Amino acid sequence: MTAVEIIEASPHFSPGEIPGLEKMDPEFIKRFVQWREWHGMPTMVTSAFRNSPTSAHGKGLAIDCILFMPGKYRVETLSAERLWRITELWGWRGAGIYFDWNLQYRNGQTAKAVGVHVDMSPDPHRRPLRWFRADRSYYYQNVIDGYFYAKSGVKYTLDQAISFFNS
Ligand SMILES: [Zn+2]
Repeated sequence: MTAVEIIEASPHFSPGEIPGLEKMDPEFIKRFVQWREWHGMPTMVTSAFRNSPTSAHGKGLAIDCILFMPGKYRVETLSAERLWRITELWGWRGAGIYFDWNLQYRNGQTAKAVGVHVDMSPDPHRRPLRWFRADRSYYYQNVIDGYFYAKSGVKYTLDQAISFFNS
C-alpha cells in the first residue's frame, strides 16, 4: 500500500491532514497509524514531509504532532507527562518533546502547546535519540545517566523540564 492508501484506510486521518503525504515512507506511516490506534488520543499532525535533506522529515520518516485529551481536539492538549509516556513506550528511534510550540486553539486563542516529533531515522550515529526543546534550546538525553544536556553542559531531568513548562 502507498502512504496515501494507508491514510485513506485509517479512521483517524484524511490525506489532507498530512503535509507531503505522497512523499512519506509507507512503513513509517503504517507505524504512525498503529501508534494512533494504540494511544487513542486525537492527534493533529503539524508537519510531515518537508524539504530538509539532513532531517528525517526529508526522508519521509518523521512526523510532528500535538495530542489532545479524548473529545478535546484543539481544546486541551495532553499533559507533557502523558505525552512523553505514550511516545516513549512505542519504540520510536527518534523522539523529541517540544515545550515551545504555539497553537491556535478552537476558541481562536493562540497559546503554548506541548508537541512531539517522532521518527524512524535509520542513522546509526544519531539514533536512538531522545530530546526536548525549551525556549528554542535543545537538550539531548544521555543514555548513561538519563539527564538531558544542553550544548552548554547544563543538564535537566525530564521532571525538571516538565515543571518549567507547567510553571
Ligand atoms: Zn520534527
